[in-house]
Amino acid sequence: MLKQTLLYTGKAKSVYETDHPDHLILVFRDDASAFNGEKVAQLDRKGKVNNLFNAFIMEKLAEAGIETHFEKLINPSEVLVKKLDMIPVECVIRNYAAGSLCRRLGVEEGKQLTPPTFELFFKDDALGDPMVNESQSVALGWATEEQLAQMKVLTYKVNEVLTALFNEAGMILVDFKLEFGVFHDRIVLGDEFSPDGCRLWDKETKKKLDKDRFRQGLGDVVEAYEEVAHRLGVNLDSI
Ligand code: ADP
Ligand code: UDP
Repeated sequence: MLKQTLLYTGKAKSVYETDHPDHLILVFRDDASAFNGEKVAQLDRKGKVNNLFNAFIMEKLAEAGIETHFEKLINPSEVLVKKLDMIPVECVIRNYAAGSLCRRLGVEEGKQLTPPTFELFFKDDALGDPMVNESQSVALGWATEEQLAQMKVLTYKVNEVLTALFNEAGMILVDFKLEFGVFHDRIVLGDEFSPDGCRLWDKETKKKLDKDRFRQGLGDVVEAYEEVAHRLGVNLDSI
């Protein structure tokens, strides 16, 4: 599969066309960013760790019957994916309170949310990814009601599968963000699942093992991502 025109350079990945119209290549870079691009850094190995980690998770989700864009790993920092028509609405599930929910509602970090909450955010850097609701998303033409319903069901299913997976490896899946797109009229999971887009705490010590280490300047960011990968049995030998 040949990497052709660069379509898009995001905050963490670059997206290339290939010689096949249905496929793209995503290149995971070492760039880290937080607070809507206000804090940036280069974190050695992050791109490769996230790419290999994401491949592992996408395969687990596919085994659970969730269709994803993942096709195959090309090398440690590149992956071949289905080209989706991305829906610009991010889906967030929270099992425990953290991050923007605490800031918005004055809730203490770590409070269990029963049942888990489901939120939508409009993917727009210039606006800082504002929270939106279903009717706004439909009225503004970002997604249909049916698509949103499917995205919600799929996000809860991902939560079920991954909560169990991380729990078995001694971690709590606190919250996470997913992005979906359309592929030949089907809703398919796109983008990535990695410690950059979720919160993971050690079950016993509550040590943060995700991007909050970068946001909060806790250090050892990639080391924590590698620890998560090792606990799950992700093979990082090629890095
Ligand atoms: P951001 O756009 O938030 O800065 P990234 O640096 O991760 O994020 O860039 C990757 C971009 O590729 C995102 O805009 C994401 O929505 C998009 N994307 C991810 N998977 C696919 C896919 N399978 N098809 C098309 N676009 C995708
Ligand atoms: N998230 C993400 N990209 C975004 C917004 C959120 O990956 O643009 C993830 C974030 O890492 C966390 C979850 O979604 O796991 C909920 O994020 P929150 O709303 O608490 O926002 P934040 O604290 O990052 O501002």
